[in-house]
Amino acid sequence: MTRLGKICTSCGRLTDRYVLFKCPSCNKTEIVRCDECRLNHTKYKCKECEFEGP
Ligand SMILES: [Zn+2]
Ligand SMILES: [Zn+2]
Repeated sequence: MTRLGKICTSCGRLTDRYVLFKCPSCNKTEIVRCDECRLNHTKYKCKECEFEGP
Protein backbone atom coordinates (compact mmCIF):
# COMPACT_ATOMS: atom_id res chain seq x y z
CA MET A 1 0.00 0.00 0.00
CA THR A 2 1.38 3.36 -0.99
CA ARG A 3 1.15 6.00 1.62
CA LEU A 4 0.39 9.22 -0.15
CA GLY A 5 0.97 12.58 1.40
CA LYS A 6 -1.77 14.45 3.16
CA ILE A 7 -2.32 18.05 4.03
CA CYS A 8 -1.88 18.60 7.75
CA THR A 9 -5.02 20.06 9.33
CA SER A 10 -2.97 22.16 11.74
CA CYS A 11 -0.23 23.70 9.61
CA GLY A 12 -1.54 23.10 6.09
CA ARG A 13 1.67 21.54 4.87
CA LEU A 14 1.88 18.44 2.73
CA THR A 15 3.29 15.59 4.77
CA ASP A 16 3.78 11.86 4.48
CA ARG A 17 4.46 11.41 8.17
CA TYR A 18 1.17 11.96 9.87
CA VAL A 19 -1.54 10.52 12.03
CA LEU A 20 -5.11 10.37 10.81
CA PHE A 21 -8.11 10.23 13.10
CA LYS A 22 -11.74 11.22 13.24
CA CYS A 23 -12.78 14.37 15.03
CA PRO A 24 -13.35 13.32 18.67
CA SER A 25 -16.30 15.67 18.90
CA CYS A 26 -18.48 15.08 15.82
CA ASN A 27 -16.77 11.96 14.45
CA LYS A 28 -17.35 13.20 10.89
CA THR A 29 -14.20 14.84 9.66
CA GLU A 30 -10.79 13.32 9.32
CA ILE A 31 -8.07 15.21 11.12
CA VAL A 32 -4.56 14.96 9.73
CA ARG A 33 -1.65 15.82 11.95
CA CYS A 34 1.93 15.81 10.78
CA ASP A 35 4.71 14.58 13.06
CA GLU A 36 5.85 18.09 13.75
CA CYS A 37 2.44 19.33 14.87
CA ARG A 38 1.95 16.23 16.98
CA LEU A 39 5.25 16.83 18.77
CA ASN A 40 4.61 20.54 19.17
CA HIS A 41 1.00 19.99 20.26
CA THR A 42 -0.19 22.42 17.64
CA LYS A 43 -3.92 22.99 17.75
CA TYR A 44 -6.22 21.70 15.07
CA LYS A 45 -9.72 22.80 14.29
CA CYS A 46 -12.51 20.64 12.93
CA LYS A 47 -14.18 22.36 9.99
CA GLU A 48 -17.45 20.59 10.68
CA CYS A 49 -18.08 21.39 14.35
CA GLU A 50 -15.31 23.94 15.10
CA PHE A 51 -13.90 21.68 17.78
CA GLU A 52 -10.37 22.67 18.72
CA GLY A 53 -8.05 20.16 20.24
CA PRO A 54 -4.47 19.31 20.96
ZN1 LIG B 1 1.39 20.08 10.71
ZN1 LIG C 1 -15.84 17.85 14.50
